[in-house]
Amino acid sequence: MKTPDDWRRVRRLTVSERRLLRRHGRAVLSVAALHVLLTLLLWWLGVLQLAPVPLVTVVVGLLVPGLVYLGLIELGLTAEWREPSLSMPAALILLVAFLITGFGLDEARISALMLFFPLLLLVSFRLGAGGLLALALLASVGYLLMLALAWRYHGLRLSPTLEALQWLVFTLVSVSFAVTGSGVNGLRRRLAVKNQALADALEQVRDLAIRDDLTGLFNRRHILQVLEHQKGLADGGIYPFSVCYVDLDYFKAINDAFGHGWGDRVLRDFADFALADLRGGDYLARLGGEEFIMVLPQSNLEGAELAAERLRQGWGQRDFRAQNGPPKVSLSAGVACYRPGESIDQLIARADHALYLAKSRGRDRVCREET
Ligand code: GH3
Ligand code: MG
Ligand code: MG
Repeated sequence: MKTPDDWRRVRRLTVSERRLLRRHGRAVLSVAALHVLLTLLLWWLGVLQLAPVPLVTVVVGLLVPGLVYLGLIELGLTAEWREPSLSMPAALILLVAFLITGFGLDEARISALMLFFPLLLLVSFRLGAGGLLALALLASVGYLLMLALAWRYHGLRLSPTLEALQWLVFTLVSVSFAVTGSGVNGLRRRLAVKNQALADALEQVRDLAIRDDLTGLFNRRHILQVLEHQKGLADGGIYPFSVCYVDLDYFKAINDAFGHGWGDRVLRDFADFALADLRGGDYLARLGGEEFIMVLPQSNLEGAELAAERLRQGWGQRDFRAQNGPPKVSLSAGVACYRPGESIDQLIARADHALYLAKSRGRDRVCREET
């Protein structure tokens, strides 16, 4: 079962992280390919004393899991796994291959293990300090085992002192690579956390810039941008759109009789109600005070009038008397449909004029623009 932390990690595997993961997979695989080439070269030069079975084990044992590994990573199949880069198993397979090649070399034994250092650096991007140290120590123990087997099966051509010295240097360099790698990775992680915090803050600032404080609806600035975008679509002949200018009736009286707090509460309640009533794809903004605008893409005048009428009737049922607040607060609305080529100001002015008609005809009604 996945813990909440796991799910959070899965969700955080963003597009750019997937790209990084793929790049990491290819880099690990290049180390494997380099080792295969090196092994074949050493064998061709006659320096590598390996029987066919271990030689084929190194070549096939790297190429087959390597291709499976590449497939898994490239297709994103490991994305939900605990460690999507499979760094530890990949590093262990590579280490075994290095050691088998090292077993078949005598004077040049250490050359088979040089690729272990870039490998450690690579996997330090994915493994924690503990994993890296464990890998370095495993490599050191594996090296000792490989020396013992080489001694047992074909003797050591270098003096045991020289072999031991090379083993010691290999161990010390591996451990220092592991420590440095994990230090660099710690810095990278802290930087990533800071970047995330910055991105979150930027997101908040963006949200603040387009929303109205009191109701959380879009503000005037943002809805004007939405309208310009809709105008672009309508001018391009893609679809028509309409607007509905809404004004709450006798709102000043609510403030006067029940206080500004109640006035604010009614405004927030209206915002929530109208949002819930809205069709997906429609927009709602507070222009200021008790004035709102709905933008209805793909709606002609009749459609917009229907939507406004539905909102008026629904909102007309709301009553705050049970909470010692005002009785029903009605609304008046004016609808207008965009005419290709006109400006947004002209469109809003026509909706505002229709609203004026609704007010002058007694309020609590929807009027359409006069054609
Ligand atoms: P009408 O039916 O003609 O629209 O009358 P009205 O009283 O609704 O219109 P008017 O323009 O006279 O008054 C609007 C009132 O809205 C005045 C102002 O005190 C109040 N108002 C504007 N912004 C806010 C706000 O953020 N909170 C509260 N509580 N009241 C506000
Ligand atoms: Mg008003
Ligand atoms: Mg009003």
